[in-house]
Amino acid sequence: MEKLQQMKDTLQIHIDSIQDELNSLSQDIWSHPELAGNETKAHDRLVRFFSQRDGAWTVESHFKLPTAFRASWGPVGGEPKEGNTVLNVGFLCEYDALPDLGHACGHNLIAEVGAAAAVGLKAALDRQSELPVSVKITVLGTPAEEAIGGKIDLIQAGAFSDLDLVFMAHPAQQDASFLPTVTIEEVTVKYHGKASHASAYPWEGVNALDAAVLAYNNLSALRQQLKPEWRLHGIIKNGGVKPNIIPAYAELEFYLRTPLLKDLLNLKAKAEACFRAAALATGCQVEIIYPSHTYYNILPNATLANLYESNGKTLGIEFPEQPDLFSGSTDFGNVSFIVPGIHAFFSIGSAALNHTKEYTEAAGAEKAQLFTLRTAKALAMTAVDVVCRPDLLQQTREDFSRAKLKQEK
Ligand SMILES: [Zn+2]
Ligand SMILES: [Zn+2]
Repeated sequence: MEKLQQMKDTLQIHIDSIQDELNSLSQDIWSHPELAGNETKAHDRLVRFFSQRDGAWTVESHFKLPTAFRASWGPVGGEPKEGNTVLNVGFLCEYDALPDLGHACGHNLIAEVGAAAAVGLKAALDRQSELPVSVKITVLGTPAEEAIGGKIDLIQAGAFSDLDLVFMAHPAQQDASFLPTVTIEEVTVKYHGKASHASAYPWEGVNALDAAVLAYNNLSALRQQLKPEWRLHGIIKNGGVKPNIIPAYAELEFYLRTPLLKDLLNLKAKAEACFRAAALATGCQVEIIYPSHTYYNILPNATLANLYESNGKTLGIEFPEQPDLFSGSTDFGNVSFIVPGIHAFFSIGSAALNHTKEYTEAAGAEKAQLFTLRTAKALAMTAVDVVCRPDLLQQTREDFSRAKLKQEK
């Protein structure tokens, strides 16, 4: 136990000793906001951060995606014995910004937390020859959270397949070791009809706008029959060209969200019936397109959450008894279905809400640093617990299997 505390002290001292460097990392990302998939400056900045650390990290730039990277260190703790594999501990950095708003979701601070926690854990593990298991640290730079779901592309490319645990934290209004997030499916619906003069020979036309409006109304009627936590919300993106032309083309864009993945399939089926019914009623052709990845809900991991809270409390983090609910979606949900992990939320000392101009200011403010660094410390301390205590590692894995099984029921 004494050794465990020493390791936790070491990582805190190390993170404090490089706080200026960490601050400038997130400041540089904040001052050059880049949209999902275009984070070249942030990518280069993070690659430089890890490349310049005494050559200790193996850094792979453009790892599987143009603006993703991987930095790895280790293994330490002795050569893995026969049948004993290396425990690969992952930290995730996000760094994409929002159109017009800049870093209004504070992803520059996610990058700082991931980098700080990883180098902190390295400091704690350095020269430890007697760990219960050989340990490796992997930092993954995961782009395009806000728009495309970069982590889902990385999962499909195998970037997560050798990770045993994943850690990350996201700026919010409060501290929480876990907040349920919801699934999201984006759907684009295209109706193809036939143009005709709207006054002279309307009977010759097939009205695509009518199909879109009927679909919109079908979904509005459906909403009353849905569970309160389910969401469907959308817009008509294209509704014709001129009032005297029967619209030959109309387009809808909708988001479907449910707390659980299995319910999303159910909601999708109901929504599709609404879209198709409108096509049938008007005689239009319909195309239903899912343009991006499905974001899953985050699976809880009680062991990691409890450890994070007890470590966080020693650093002065306060966790509200009943945190406010958050109904956003993240591609970390998909990660949580394949690797045991934690996606904590942290206050940055501002009451502003994510995706507002005020939050952009808060994410770049000096004040956010204290909150960011203590979050990184709490994450790294949690990793120390799991790495040094095989019973906790086992529990973490059991929690993961249990949470996954529960999703399927
Ligand atoms: Zn966001
Ligand atoms: Zn975000």
